[in-house]
Amino acid sequence: MSHSLAPRALGLLTLTLALAACATPGPVDCPPCARPPVSAEADHADATALSLPRLPSWGMKYAGTPSADIPRLNIDAVMAAHGLRRDQAVELQNHFFDRRRAAPTTDAQLQFEEALSLARADKFEDRRDLQRLRERDFIVVFDLDDTLYDQYRASAECHDLVVNPPGADKPRYIKLAPGWDAAIKKIHELGGAVALFSANLDDNVLENTAAWTLDGAPLRDHPMIAGVLSNSHLIQESAAPPVAGGKRRAPVTEPSKDLRIFDPALARVIIVDDNPTRLFQFRNTRVTKKFHADRYCAGDAGEKAAHERVLPTVVRELEESIVYARANKVDFATAYLPYSALGQLTVRALVDAGAAPADAIARVRQQPELVEDDF
Ligand SMILES: [Mg+2]
Repeated sequence: MSHSLAPRALGLLTLTLALAACATPGPVDCPPCARPPVSAEADHADATALSLPRLPSWGMKYAGTPSADIPRLNIDAVMAAHGLRRDQAVELQNHFFDRRRAAPTTDAQLQFEEALSLARADKFEDRRDLQRLRERDFIVVFDLDDTLYDQYRASAECHDLVVNPPGADKPRYIKLAPGWDAAIKKIHELGGAVALFSANLDDNVLENTAAWTLDGAPLRDHPMIAGVLSNSHLIQESAAPPVAGGKRRAPVTEPSKDLRIFDPALARVIIVDDNPTRLFQFRNTRVTKKFHADRYCAGDAGEKAAHERVLPTVVRELEESIVYARANKVDFATAYLPYSALGQLTVRALVDAGAAPADAIARVRQQPELVEDDF
């Protein structure tokens, strides 16, 4: 055996031993099993080394679709390796996914490097208004499907918008949730920024927000909209601590919306969303009843009225909260905490114990530690 072959033989031996260990079922942590290295070179390339191992397909609802075809990046590792902000690292993932899908046989590392240079230069695929996101007192992120619109239960008889997707044989009908436009305008007037974040596929979101207009301007280009994010911006997060020696944390297994993209401190941002299963920051989450077009169009007066109150109710909470935040010099997320998914539970418990609703809300704002950090 020549000297140059010795390290390679040692490597193969290590790999063989690791695989043998993995073949034995047991409670042992076995990280090499999740992603055996194809070659030493590939494993050192960022595109591979900075990706999270894919979950088994039985655990992925959307396995086999474009939302699950490429492993998501380890965002903390990307930030550390390349000195990026979180919004840049997530945008790198978005650019990288676009390139992988457009040219799956091209060298992944090359595509990663292209995506990296775009992200580093603050080149966002959407018209991201970084200045507004940084400077406004508060940011409201709206989910789309079942929150601001319904594109699955709308019909020729019940819709506000028709989209003709390229290559599709029939039009896509969309019904907009009552009060969507007043909500965006009021938030703008109150000094807030609005962003849209859908878990739906990138093309679907791009097509819909190009056809959907506010005062004649497509939503995706509208100056009142500070960003439009979609499936390629969803993140997963390992339970492993981002810094050596840290505590293990709850993993984010379902690709999810990370509000730190908009505000790393989570002090000024909330999301309004019907679906908490793709979220993990529940002190900053307002869960709403689903807007379903068929129910809305066919419902009786009571059901219709209930749908019509959902967004105006959120707007009233936002207004009351920003007034409180400014008067009391607290951050917006603390002022809004009583209305958040976790905060509502504490308010409810205080009311059940005899407090008046207004007093319960005031108490949560003064003692935000009464609200748990997580479920
Ligand atoms: Mg939704």
